[in-house]
Amino acid sequence: MPPDAQRRRADDLDASQIPSRFNLVIPSHDRIPALLFNTRTRQLLALGTEEGAPVRDLLGRRRPLSISEVQRDPLLIELWEQGFLVPEYRDELAELLVETRAARFGPGAGLTILPTLRCNLACRYCFSEPTAMDMTREVAELLASRMKEVASREEILRVTWFGGEPLLRLDTIKHLSREFLRAFDTVTGYIVTNGLLLTLRAARDLVALGIRAAQVTIDGPRDFHDVRRPLRDGGGTFDTILRNLCGASSLMRIAVRVNVDEEMLDHPKRLAAFLHFLDERTEGRVQAYIVPVIGICDRPASMRFANVSWERFAVFLWEVYASAMREGAAVKPPWMSPSSGTCLASRPASVTVAPDGQLYRCWEEPSGHDEQPVGHLSRDWLTPREESHEMRYLAWEETHTPECRQCAMLPLCMGGCARISLSSNRRGKVAESCMRWRAMIPTITRLKYLEKRLQGGLVSLT
Ligand code: SF4
Ligand code: SF4
Repeated sequence: MPPDAQRRRADDLDASQIPSRFNLVIPSHDRIPALLFNTRTRQLLALGTEEGAPVRDLLGRRRPLSISEVQRDPLLIELWEQGFLVPEYRDELAELLVETRAARFGPGAGLTILPTLRCNLACRYCFSEPTAMDMTREVAELLASRMKEVASREEILRVTWFGGEPLLRLDTIKHLSREFLRAFDTVTGYIVTNGLLLTLRAARDLVALGIRAAQVTIDGPRDFHDVRRPLRDGGGTFDTILRNLCGASSLMRIAVRVNVDEEMLDHPKRLAAFLHFLDERTEGRVQAYIVPVIGICDRPASMRFANVSWERFAVFLWEVYASAMREGAAVKPPWMSPSSGTCLASRPASVTVAPDGQLYRCWEEPSGHDEQPVGHLSRDWLTPREESHEMRYLAWEETHTPECRQCAMLPLCMGGCARISLSSNRRGKVAESCMRWRAMIPTITRLKYLEKRLQGGLVSLT
């Protein structure tokens, strides 16, 4: 904005200003200057030289900045306009919590359905207990009838299909989706699949039933992927999944998840080349995101391949994207999109349904660890133990520790995972969320800066 227009806008100032509690200063690194980042608004500014010393000094002041002080200084006007300064009467924490509660207790029912716990792959880091449980027709009918009752008070239903591999029971997905479409005004669907059965025909069926978005996992190039995500008989799956992805992404919105284990950390260039290849093959239709394989249970297979620390992963992420972008490859770096921050497990109008009709708060629970049901489709009452478990989730608060209330990362982390913080062996695990964001925010913001700079669109404070 030109300086005059900026000054005119600054006439709107109605109070002394203080730094937003959600500002973070990211130190310079690898030819990227120091950055100022607001975790709530996701605004990002380059701070120029000397690690942004003038801005750091301003933001570190204890005394509020008067209206006239801000109006006189173009730097302060800029910070105010971008939301890095806020009126001293504003309670940003209260605003964030109200927004989160609106999403948590707002309209619309949510269902996560596991039509089967079976899977057609044998991923070497998988934490799920192998079991042959499918949802029977009887359980599906109980669910359909329960949802008809819900439809008398809710207009919108959001369904996530999960597993096992949900497409092994496409028949159940189709049957239940038709029932939901008959009962609710609006049904939106999302499926988490390994992609092996996501043929063009299956994708057409899903889209016709309102399931228009999917997550598919490919663990890097063929030689990486096929040893990590083989068929049960050891055969490769890369070519089939890639073919399906190319077809299905012309009909559905697809995010590709790439799991990175310790061995892959030595090959950032191969990962970068793979992301570029994926972008070309799907003509830019899919957004890939990379996540580390991190042990979440004590099963030997999971632990053996789950040694990636967030710090090491952040370095890897930088190596993958920064070099690829600087060389002009078409890769889209990760970004932190605004979200309601609500974990579905703590949302009263959402529930997870296992194939046997057991109900759970969190979608991770039926897969074989920390299982604690909160009811069953066949009855409309809860046992005292189920009720107690249900209450603990529903009463869970994003600001469950004093540190969370003070934390500048809260709008991104939202207190981490309710299941972990409620579990009995949580010692040390709550800190996992802190470590994750502490390690990842600098890298992700620098990648965003690099992307914007390469596109020529970044505002810079000097
Ligand atoms: S869990 Fe850690 S990172 Fe998350 S809000 Fe709480 S203190 Fe911050
Ligand atoms: S409890 Fe944790 S794993 Fe479960 S839905 Fe919430 S954030 Fe996800």
